[in-house]
Amino acid sequence: MKLDIVRGIQSKGIDVPFDLTDIWGEDTWNGDTIRYVQPVHFSGNFMINDETVVVRGIAETVIEGPCARCLEPARVNVSAEVAEAYVRDKGEEIDPFEEDQYRYKGHILDLDDAVRTALLLELPTRFLCQEECKGLCPVCGTNLNHNSCDCQKELPRRSPFSALADLLNEDEEV
Ligand SMILES: [Zn+2]
Ligand SMILES: [Zn+2]
Repeated sequence: MKLDIVRGIQSKGIDVPFDLTDIWGEDTWNGDTIRYVQPVHFSGNFMINDETVVVRGIAETVIEGPCARCLEPARVNVSAEVAEAYVRDKGEEIDPFEEDQYRYKGHILDLDDAVRTALLLELPTRFLCQEECKGLCPVCGTNLNHNSCDCQKELPRRSPFSALADLLNEDEEV
């Protein structure tokens, strides 16, 4: 995602609007493969102050990742605020205090890192295909959202009432 700042060079110190759309493919997040299933849209304003360009806007997309319970693809709408300063790369040695700063050369800013970081920060801690996802059977792996299996029935039954029954029996023994 590239921002051409040529339009702002004549209007330093003034907000210049931009509207960018880019198609991103796969990415890795917390060890999972995720996909940007909608184009990444980023719109806002940039302002040139001397050699620094301040970029502010809202990035939006839809990201798909594996459901934490059943592993089926799950989608999340993501919207993130981005506010970053880009300093001109003059090819000089970088001041250690500015090492983390985004840099640009010429009149093109590469916004991918900033937009990606902001979007991924907005993801929930895990993907869920639905709030009520029943997940996979821990015994046979059946997706319990689509099918049922007999594994749970075969496990030894212990209803909430059996604990109560034990208590009552103890009382009787006293
Ligand atoms: Zn699920
Ligand atoms: Zn099962």
